[in-house]
Amino acid sequence: MNASIEGTLFVVAAPSGAGKSTLVNALLERESTISLSVSHTTRPPRPGETYGRHYYFVERAEFEREIAEGIFLEHAEVHGNLYGTSRTTVQELLGQGRDVLLEIDWQGAQQIRASKPDCVSVFILPPSRAELERRLRGRGSDSAEVIERRLRNSRGEIAHAHEFDYILVNDVFDEALAGLQAIVRAVRLRGTLQWRRHEALIAELLADEAG
Ligand code: 5GP
Repeated sequence: MNASIEGTLFVVAAPSGAGKSTLVNALLERESTISLSVSHTTRPPRPGETYGRHYYFVERAEFEREIAEGIFLEHAEVHGNLYGTSRTTVQELLGQGRDVLLEIDWQGAQQIRASKPDCVSVFILPPSRAELERRLRGRGSDSAEVIERRLRNSRGEIAHAHEFDYILVNDVFDEALAGLQAIVRAVRLRGTLQWRRHEALIAELLADEAG
């Protein structure tokens, strides 16, 4: 990490039930210099979810006021709830040279691409529709109605996968995780970044021979 070089913004999207959060959490355990942005949402907390760790849970009226105040870098309505990413939190982290990961939907990803064209986006697909359904139902924390709605919405989400820089199929978890890690590592080794990161080395390598 180098505070004089702005961090990279990673955007990860997937239909509900593709295993995105589990993959992202495993990535964050391995790549400690990536910060996960905690979103604001009007969705009620699931059992075990806590304020400030999983989401900032807010009332719709408060969320709408925050939209008007311009605090969101992006925001969208997903499955009937509002979700948004705080502009200042992301900007501060990137400014400190930290990489930031946003777990957001395709609408938010479109907004981020428009305002931050250097972002790197990844879409996670389930290995089959049956498996998507099995994983969604297996979560056990959503009502039947919420599950049906998310299943119906999954096609709309998946139809946008081609807009992303990378597409991963989350069939064998370890392979998908290795893929995600490979993307992060390759991005960090991009020439434009490395040239600035290793300025001193390059200057030394290019210096004229003394005498
Ligand atoms: P969940 O309710 O399962 O936590 O999230 C539902 C959907 O909302 C997921 O696709 C998730 O990626 C998306 N989401 C979560 N936070 C944000 C956000 O800040 N912005 C946008 N646009 N989508 C979000």
